[in-house]
Amino acid sequence: MFLKGKSAIVTGSTSGIGLAYAKAFAAEGASVMINGFGDAAAIETERAALEATSGAKALYDAADMTKAEAIEAMVKRCHDELGGPDIIVNNAGIQHVAPIDEFPIDKWDAIIAINLTSAFHMMRASIPYMKAAKWGRIISTASAHSLVASPNKSAYVAAKHGIAGLTKTAALEVATHGITVNAISPGYVWTPLVENQIPDTMKARGLTREQVMNDVLLAAQPTKEFVTPEQVAALALFLCRDEAKSITGANMTVDGGWTAA
Ligand code: NAD
Repeated sequence: MFLKGKSAIVTGSTSGIGLAYAKAFAAEGASVMINGFGDAAAIETERAALEATSGAKALYDAADMTKAEAIEAMVKRCHDELGGPDIIVNNAGIQHVAPIDEFPIDKWDAIIAINLTSAFHMMRASIPYMKAAKWGRIISTASAHSLVASPNKSAYVAAKHGIAGLTKTAALEVATHGITVNAISPGYVWTPLVENQIPDTMKARGLTREQVMNDVLLAAQPTKEFVTPEQVAALALFLCRDEAKSITGANMTVDGGWTAA
């Protein structure tokens, strides 16, 4: 239980990869603050399960990642009720698939706000506490799309490339404070985010569901297997260890070889 006494905020942790991070941190004794949207009863079940796993407190905060004040309030609440935050994971994300000339402006704005700008607000609010503690771990879920592009994902690719740049800049700024800043870039992970984009990709490219799964999604992944949320969370956990203190400013792929091609 190497995270006993530490606290972690994971944005967008009511499902998918975020929930896997929260479970991994709790399994090592951390108190965790989960965040995101979803069914209230299901969220409460997850929160209670995290507490049972960690033996430490677990809280849910409903902060909307499009709202700077809500993000700042969530970080302050973590400090007041759990301590820290010692670990933050910028993970909340959405997707919309359409060509640029048909891309809805409100979707562009929402993707940039949730997938990129919220990470800036999380860092801005958390770094003073981490500097005071002389220890911190900042991790962002980027994507293979932080390194390469795909058609019809302009806002997502722009936001994820932005996360890669923000990660490097923040790492340089806090390098002497015991704080590391890294991005994890998964390939296709089987979560609701991927499931939900299948109908739009079918429409945008005129394909069947099976064709989208095999010819679009797994076409890019040489292993021909989806990445699992647990595999991504295991890397985040390693980044929190003292052995990982020299890993900073890195963008680490967990993509089944996608970006090697
Ligand atoms: P998901 O849809 O399962 O989870 C997204 C989470 O973000 C949910 O908890 C949701 O409630 C939350 N969220 C959405 N809008 C929010 C808002 N305005 N405020 C607060 N929370 C909000 O998706 P996932 O696949 O687990 O995605 C998690 C992260 O991983 C995202 O940043 C995504 O871009 C990234 N990623 C996913 C894949 C993949 O293949 N699934 C690949 C690479 C990167």
